[in-house]
Amino acid sequence: MLYSAIAETFERIEATTKRLEMTDYLVELLRKTPPELMDKVIYLTQGKIYPDYMGVELGIAEKLLLKSLYKATGIPESEIEELYMRHGDVGIVAENVIARKKQMSLFSEELTVERVYSTFEEIARKEGKGAQDFKMKLLANLFHDSKPVEARYLARMAVARLRLGIADMTILDALAISFGEKSDRDKVERAYNICSDLGLVARTLAQKGIDGLKEIKIRVGIPIRAMLAERLRTLEEILEKMGGKAAFEYKYDGIRIQAHISEDVRLFSRHLENLTEQFPEITSALRRAFMGEDAIVEGECVPIDPSTGEMLPFQVVSHRRGRKYGVEEAMEEFPVLLFLFDALYLNGEDLTVRPYLERRKALKDSFTETERIRISTILITDSTEEAERFFNQAIDAGCEGIMAKSIAEDSVYRAGARGFTWIKYKKDYKSEMTDTVDLVPVGAFMGRGRRAGKYGALLMAAYNPDRDMFETVCKLGSGFTDEDLDKLPEIFKRYLTEERHPRVDSKMEPDVWFVPNFVLEVLGAEITLSPNHTCAYGQIKKDAGLAIRFPRFTGNWRDDRGPEDATTSQEMLHMYEMQRKVE
Ligand code: ATP
Repeated sequence: MLYSAIAETFERIEATTKRLEMTDYLVELLRKTPPELMDKVIYLTQGKIYPDYMGVELGIAEKLLLKSLYKATGIPESEIEELYMRHGDVGIVAENVIARKKQMSLFSEELTVERVYSTFEEIARKEGKGAQDFKMKLLANLFHDSKPVEARYLARMAVARLRLGIADMTILDALAISFGEKSDRDKVERAYNICSDLGLVARTLAQKGIDGLKEIKIRVGIPIRAMLAERLRTLEEILEKMGGKAAFEYKYDGIRIQAHISEDVRLFSRHLENLTEQFPEITSALRRAFMGEDAIVEGECVPIDPSTGEMLPFQVVSHRRGRKYGVEEAMEEFPVLLFLFDALYLNGEDLTVRPYLERRKALKDSFTETERIRISTILITDSTEEAERFFNQAIDAGCEGIMAKSIAEDSVYRAGARGFTWIKYKKDYKSEMTDTVDLVPVGAFMGRGRRAGKYGALLMAAYNPDRDMFETVCKLGSGFTDEDLDKLPEIFKRYLTEERHPRVDSKMEPDVWFVPNFVLEVLGAEITLSPNHTCAYGQIKKDAGLAIRFPRFTGNWRDDRGPEDATTSQEMLHMYEMQRKVE
C-alpha cells in the first residue's frame, strides 16, 4: 500500500472540522487498506507507532528534523531554519522544501506504508551512541523519496505532533461503519476499552469481523481504560440518582493506579502510562498483600507524612512521577500509600461484568491490608445525614470528598466511560466555583509595567470533544510567581504559531498564539456568561459563552494530561448549571 493514500486522506481530514466528514474519509481509507496493514494504518493516523501504554515515543527534536531535510535536499540549513521561524510548523517547512527539491530531481522510489512504519519503528527504538545521527539519516531517506504532501505528515509525525484532530471516538465510528452495522458500535468500543489498543481492534475486525472481537479479552499486563465519575451537587440528588441507597467511599486525592499483578507487577496511570519503575515499594507491597494467582485492581496512590501517617496534599505525590533517576531517594522523601477501590480481574476471571459489591468483596477477600496497601473506607447508606457525616469525616482525614457508587445489579465496571454509576461529591461544590478546572493555554497577551516584555496573561481554553476544538474561557494572569513568569516565554517557545491554531476557537486576539499542548490547573470564583469567550457558545444564551471570573493558576502544571484531557466545555456547562441551581 502506498503511503500517499494515507497522506491524501490526512490532507482531506485536515481541511474539515466536521466529524462526519472526517469519518467518511477514514472509512474510505480503511476500505483501501489490506487487513494485515490495518493496525499500522490506524497507528499512523493517531500519529503513533504503538498503543500508548507501550510507552514508546517518537518525539524527534525539531532541530534534528530540520537537519534531515537539509540532508535530503541539499537546501542550506539556514534557509530551512528561516522557513521554520516563519511558519512554526515542521510539516509546512518539509512540504515546502520537498516541493522545491522535486523541481530539480527526476527520480525517486514511491513510499509504501510498510516502509514508513518500519522506519519510524527503527527511529523510536534506536538508543545510545550515534542514535541521533542514525535517526536523522533514516528520516532524510524518507524525505528523499516523499512527495511534498507526504513530507508534511512525515515531519509532523516525527516530532510527535501529527494532531489531525481525529478523536478515538471518530476512529471507532469509522471502524464500526467499515466492518459492521451501526448497531455494532458498542461492541467495537467495548473491545477498545478493555485492550486500549485501536490498532489491535482494527486488525481483528479486518481479519475476523465483528465476531472476532470476542477474542479480545482482558489480559493481565494490558491496561483497561478507566471508568470515570460524573458529578452532582447535593447528596440528595446523588442518592436519588442512585435509587435511594448507595455505597460511599472516601475520595482520596492522589494518582490513580491500575495494578496488574501476576508473577510480577505492573502499574499504569489513568492515562495508561507505565508507572511501574516509579513506585517500586508499591509493586513489592502489592505482591505481598495479594493472596491469589493474578489480578487487575485499581486504587489511589496518596502521599503521606511519614512522621504522622497523615495524608498530604496531592501535589506532593507528583514528585514521584516521571523520574528516571533518584527513585530510591524520592521513595524515602515522599512516601506513599495505595488505597485499593476496585477489582477488575481476579484469578482468570473478568470481574468488570459483575456488580460493584461483588467486585468489592473479591477485592477484600484477596488482599490483606498492610502498612502500604489499604482498602478504601466505605459506607453503605440510604440516609443523606449519614452520608454528610461520612463526607465530613473524609475531609477531616485529608480526602477531597467522597465517591458515591451504585450498588444496583447493573453496576458493572464501565471501562472508558464517564457515567452516573460513580458520582463524585467534593467539598468545594457547596460554595461558588472553588473546584479547579484543567485548561489549555492557546495564546498570550504581553504584559505591562512590571511585566513588560513578559507574558501578562495566558488565554485559556476548555476542550470540546464534539467539535474537537479548544474554546476559550478566560485570561489567566494571577497565581504565577515571578519565577514562573520569567520562564513562560521559554516554555512556550516551541509551541508558538503565527496564526490562531485551526483547533482553537476564539473571539479574542492575543499577542501570540500557541499550539494547544499544556494543561494548567485553574481555580476560579464563579462561572459567568460572556460575549468574549467561545466555551459552550450559544448554549445558555444566544450571544454568549462561558467564562471564569477571577481565575487563578494553582501552580499545578498538569503534565500528566494531554490537551484533550482538559476540562471539557460540556463539563463547564454542567458546572455552570449546578452553580445556578444553588443560586
Ligand atoms: P478529579 O480531578 O476530580 O480527580 P478526574 O477527571 O481526574 O477528576 P473523575 O472521574 O472525575 O476523575 O474522579 C474520579 C477519580 O477519583 C478517579 O480517577 C480516582 O483517581 C479518584 N478516586 C479517589 N478515590 C476514589 C475511590 N474511592 N473510587 C474511585 N475513584 C477514586
